[in-house]
Amino acid sequence: MTAVNPTQHRKAKALKPGSRRPAKELCSECGLCDTYYIHYVKEACAFINQQFDNLEVQSHGRVRNLENELELYFGVHQDMMAARKKEPIEGAQWTGIVSTIACEMLNSGKVEGVVCVQNSPSDRFQPMPVIARTPEEVLAARVNKPTLSPNLSILEQIEQSGMKRLLAIGVGCQIQALRAVEDKLGLEKLYILGTPCVDNVTREGLQKFLETTSKSPDTVVHYEFMQDFRIHFKHEDGSIEMVPFFGLNTKELKDVFAPSCMSCFDYVNGLADLVVGYMGAPFRWQWVVVRNDTGQEMLDLVKPQLDTQSVSSSGDRRQAVQQSIPAYDKGVTLPMWAAKLMGVVIERVGPKGLEYARFSIDSHFTRNYLYVKRNHPEKLDAHVPTFAKRIVSQYQLPKE
Ligand code: FAD
Ligand code: SF4
Repeated sequence: MTAVNPTQHRKAKALKPGSRRPAKELCSECGLCDTYYIHYVKEACAFINQQFDNLEVQSHGRVRNLENELELYFGVHQDMMAARKKEPIEGAQWTGIVSTIACEMLNSGKVEGVVCVQNSPSDRFQPMPVIARTPEEVLAARVNKPTLSPNLSILEQIEQSGMKRLLAIGVGCQIQALRAVEDKLGLEKLYILGTPCVDNVTREGLQKFLETTSKSPDTVVHYEFMQDFRIHFKHEDGSIEMVPFFGLNTKELKDVFAPSCMSCFDYVNGLADLVVGYMGAPFRWQWVVVRNDTGQEMLDLVKPQLDTQSVSSSGDRRQAVQQSIPAYDKGVTLPMWAAKLMGVVIERVGPKGLEYARFSIDSHFTRNYLYVKRNHPEKLDAHVPTFAKRIVSQYQLPKE
């Protein structure tokens, strides 16, 4: 990669946000191309240049061990646990572990700023990336904005601000591009706190999803695809609406997810130092994956504020995944009574803990592999990482 010096950067022509997207329809709007770092896009973009192995070595000192099932699925790590805040943050997506770590990173002086996503004043679901400098600004970014977010659009502000120590919070595609330009940012230390991410949507796609799936789309304040195989919608009045996954109108929703997310194989944010999600944890707990010493340093700051327990795993996902492949492909929608019944049965006997996480990874990777094969066959071999090819190869895919 050729280096661009800051003067060249500043001379680069100012681009209107969204005006250039070399990844075309696969662009996830990560924000890199809204800055002069677009110069690096051909190497840095997750959808143009898949380079997991290089970036794993750069981030963690080694590639994941494909012979170890835990690493094959969840990436390089040195520790993994279930955790929850003893005193949850009101209004956070789960218990607020992410926001708490970010606040403590600022309070302890380890960083001068935090890249996070607030929402626009007029729309709770419209992301507005910022560099937060106070805990109050971090807390204003709590809760998911379940739409594509241009987090890296703030990259130029880092250099302009003169900051040397930064924490970035983000999802996999944003973090892949960030890692690729990390050494160009002039930072002394970059901490990366990631969340898993799957099936994201544009703001218009989100509207369609809410209108197709919720009884009251305008009052939804928060939703999550939960480990009990239901989507939990939280409404303004505090009520929770639950819709079984198996009752989703897959025919209507097939085109809702962004093409970038239909082509993504970094569900578990393999390049972050520390990952906080929920998919490998018991219901109502969060899932924490420490990938390296920098991740451990961040977790240590908040450990006294957490209850923790070991991760566990039960059930066998394979048959359910194999059956879901043709059902999704044909856009099968079950009547609601059957979907509810199936949800109850699967919740009782189905995969739990890490096996639930593997169920979700297998289902998404097989679907996404077919999507890339059909829509971008010329990219298939280079774009799908080796670990994902190995996961997909466990299943029989429809003959084309
Ligand atoms: P909070 O303390 O509420 O903080 C949330 C943080 O998320 C904030 O710092 C904010 O800056 C950041 N954020 C919000 N929206 C975005 C965005 N669009 N892009 C980047 N960063 C954002 N976990 C799973 O285990 N499985 C999943 O399938 C899964 N899908 C996700 C999809 C999306 C789009 C996002 C943003 C997250 C997803 N997560 C998933 C992570 C999970 O929902 C929680 O975000 C995570 O467990 C942290 O919860 P918390 O209460 O600690 O976060
Ligand atoms: Fe640019 Fe990011 Fe879109 Fe790739 S995903 S084209 S780096 S904005």
